[in-house]
Amino acid sequence: MPGTISRRKLLRTGGQAIIAGGAAVCAGSALPAVAASRPKVKGVDYYQKLGVATFINAAGTYTTLTASTMPDEVQAAVALAALHPVHLIELHEAAGQYLAKRLRCEGALVTAGAASALTLGTAACVTAGNDADILSIPTDMNSLKNEVIVQKSHRYDYDHAVRNCGVRFVEVETLEQYEQAFNERTVMTHFFNAGEEHISREDWVRVAHKHGVPCFNDAAADVPPISNLWNYTQMGFDLVTFSGGKGLRGPQCTGLLLGRKDLIEAARKNNSPNSNTVGRGMKVAKEEIVGLVAAVDWFLAQDDAAMEAEYRQRAERIAGALKSVPTVQTQIFIPAVANHVPHLVITYDQSRVKIAAKEVMEKMRQGTPRIELNPGTGGPPASAGLPGGSNTIVVGVWMMQPGEDLIVAKRLRDVLQGAAAA
Ligand SMILES: *Cc1c(COP(=O)(O)O)cnc(C)c1O
Repeated sequence: MPGTISRRKLLRTGGQAIIAGGAAVCAGSALPAVAASRPKVKGVDYYQKLGVATFINAAGTYTTLTASTMPDEVQAAVALAALHPVHLIELHEAAGQYLAKRLRCEGALVTAGAASALTLGTAACVTAGNDADILSIPTDMNSLKNEVIVQKSHRYDYDHAVRNCGVRFVEVETLEQYEQAFNERTVMTHFFNAGEEHISREDWVRVAHKHGVPCFNDAAADVPPISNLWNYTQMGFDLVTFSGGKGLRGPQCTGLLLGRKDLIEAARKNNSPNSNTVGRGMKVAKEEIVGLVAAVDWFLAQDDAAMEAEYRQRAERIAGALKSVPTVQTQIFIPAVANHVPHLVITYDQSRVKIAAKEVMEKMRQGTPRIELNPGTGGPPASAGLPGGSNTIVVGVWMMQPGEDLIVAKRLRDVLQGAAAA
């Protein structure tokens, strides 16, 4: 829903596209040959055949923009996995053990995205210790625990994934209300990691455990830093999810469910390939399981400081190209929790540069190559202390391919310079 991104959502979700042949169009301006730096892959280009335009991702990891592209190592692992059949359950279990070890938690499950992990983790809390209940979800909940406590400010667009299990939310706003919300029907407490912090993570976990109730943390868009992959399970959250296709750059349709061994085991039982379960429609294929494991290996081999430096340099190069445009000001902004990477925020005096940011976004989209800016462009402030409004452009640089920052810089300069001359 790029058109309806709210303030809280601005820099939260994620996406990235495959670099088009479009880079070649820029030959003549002293830009590196971006497309040439990608490995040659044999086969039919179905984007071309279907007439679907690729674009340069200057947005970030947004689901509708296909979130991220897989690094070469991950693509190679997927291609190799596609060559041979395996037993799906054996693969799931081996992948889970490997991931749990690498991510320093008791158990792990590859899911069909973080949203699927929310459903399976909730189902695990409902059915742990009683497999017969798996069949009851979501319609026959009368004899089952079915209340999930959540902070009112943590209700969000992914609620439905939890409610798929036939549970209902009980909202609290203060620590005192949280303490009092537990009863014999409480099955889980849910925390949105990038949500507003009225009750701290530590208090959230402590109180849930005092009542013997497991707590779930949705950290879908919250790597980097790399250490977040174990920070929240080690903080005591019983279940934690990360999207596989955002910062981790695995297959877009994957997610990680991490946490307590018994709950991960229960989640597995509620999942595909088990037929009569809430998770049967959330199948993860062998290519995707292997792809996510390879993506985790790739991500753990990265370095937080090096990634940040690279993204900062991209943002600075774009800012540098805009220096000559009258009234333009730039600022590098790193969201505190989700999408915790440098973004470039560009503002200008609209009486001098006569174009609305939304219109800039449209011009970038319509040019060649197509460029997608961050959906926060032209919207309300992304965060306290930041500029915002119809004269604000946000550039997400972290999902760009090498060299694309220069293409984006040139095109932005042309559009803004043109509007200044008008
Ligand atoms: C993206 C996101 C999800 C969903 O992740 P998928 O992997 O696309 O299913 C869930 N929660 C939050 C907070 C997200 O940002």
